[in-house]
Amino acid sequence: MVDKSVIRILVLDDEPFMLKLLGQVLANLGFNQVTTFDRGGDALEWIDLSDIPPDLILLDLNMPEMDGIEFVRHLVQRSYTGSLILISGEDERMLQTAVKLVRAHKIATLGHLRKPASPEALSVLLAKWTPYRQRAPRGVYKTYAAGEVHAAITNGLLVNHYQPKVDVASGKVVGVEALVRWRHPRDGMVFPDQFIGIAEEHGLIDELTRVVIGEAFAQARIWQDGGLHLHVAINLSMDNLASLEFVDYVTDAASAAGIAPEVIVLEVTESRLMKGMSIPLEILTRLRLKRFSLSIDDFGTGHSSLTQLRDIPFDELKVDQGFVHGAGSNDTLRAIYGASLSLAKHLGMRTVAEGVEDRADWNFLRSTGCNLAQGYFIAKPMSAAEIPDWITSWEADIENLM
Ligand code: C2E
Ligand code: MG
Ligand code: MG
Repeated sequence: MVDKSVIRILVLDDEPFMLKLLGQVLANLGFNQVTTFDRGGDALEWIDLSDIPPDLILLDLNMPEMDGIEFVRHLVQRSYTGSLILISGEDERMLQTAVKLVRAHKIATLGHLRKPASPEALSVLLAKWTPYRQRAPRGVYKTYAAGEVHAAITNGLLVNHYQPKVDVASGKVVGVEALVRWRHPRDGMVFPDQFIGIAEEHGLIDELTRVVIGEAFAQARIWQDGGLHLHVAINLSMDNLASLEFVDYVTDAASAAGIAPEVIVLEVTESRLMKGMSIPLEILTRLRLKRFSLSIDDFGTGHSSLTQLRDIPFDELKVDQGFVHGAGSNDTLRAIYGASLSLAKHLGMRTVAEGVEDRADWNFLRSTGCNLAQGYFIAKPMSAAEIPDWITSWEADIENLM
């Protein structure tokens, strides 16, 4: 439990009535180190003169002289390490955009409140407050040199983890997605966001993908031999689709491993603009003719999802996690999620929701007719060895989720 009396709170709102109201609500909740201001300039001056910055700022967005967004920029210049709660009479979407802006500046936000702010809503947000030191470390984001990435590929330092995909209606596990990791001797487990881009830029992505495919197909065969019939999804970069040899490579790899193309799902994302589409189009069409499944990944982000949907015969659409988590309680997300699902259904495609993070997401999906679900609520990516036990425990628990 955090001792409320030690949390230093600053309230900034140009309306005297709101200042008084918020001050009273905070006092009633037991916060007694509260300072209020009705102008941004005055608040900044106070911060500059204080030894310690406030732990928490309740900030109105709409103020005549310095608005809330501008105030946040001044906080960033001062390397503010406390938290923020945004308050405004603006609509929900405007507030969410403002929260995103604040987060982009790496300032912790406990959330936002729409005026008139109720004491209950405020106390829910206040309960999320944690002292700066207790917050999760942000993780060092290193940039690796192409040579290091290449060495990792050739020296066997890449390993696939697998994240389960389950059928929403029955809860049954139908497949897994292979997600590559780099077991770095010094930095520990390095995630793909930190090296896929480098591999793409330096012409290493084909070599990387072949390693991932080799391991995943061999693993699919092991599961198959053990009686576990799982679809295995592989992530392809558009750069993998630049050379026509890729079709033969994938086809030969599947037959060498002794698995049917029907078991393999190829997930395609367009992370950057393609120069010409005719070769990727030919490759994907031929892979589809050979009965590999094609999936459009991160749908709704990227450069031209609708164009891809028009031109490429995908079997599966994965709604990006940015439109899934929280969709049940957010009108904007729900509208985009629903439109993506309906588009897929009209095109006869299977739908997968990624980023199912909590029970509310899962319940929401169940009401929408989405086919498959994937996300931390179901399981985080894990090593191949952990998959069989995880399936057993998931299936033992399924009734609780139906
Ligand atoms: P993706 O294909 O969209 O994979 C899903 C990512 O979301 C994975 O991150 C996964 O760990 C994460 N995730 C899963 N469930 C949840 C959830 O409930 N909440 C949240 N917030 N995240 C969740 P990961 O493993 O870091 O991979 C990131 C991206 O890197 C992948 O996104 C994929 O585009 C790319 N990638 C991974 N492996 C490969 C590969 O072998 N080749 C290529 N070209 N790209 C790869
Ligand atoms: Mg994927
Ligand atoms: Mg995705």
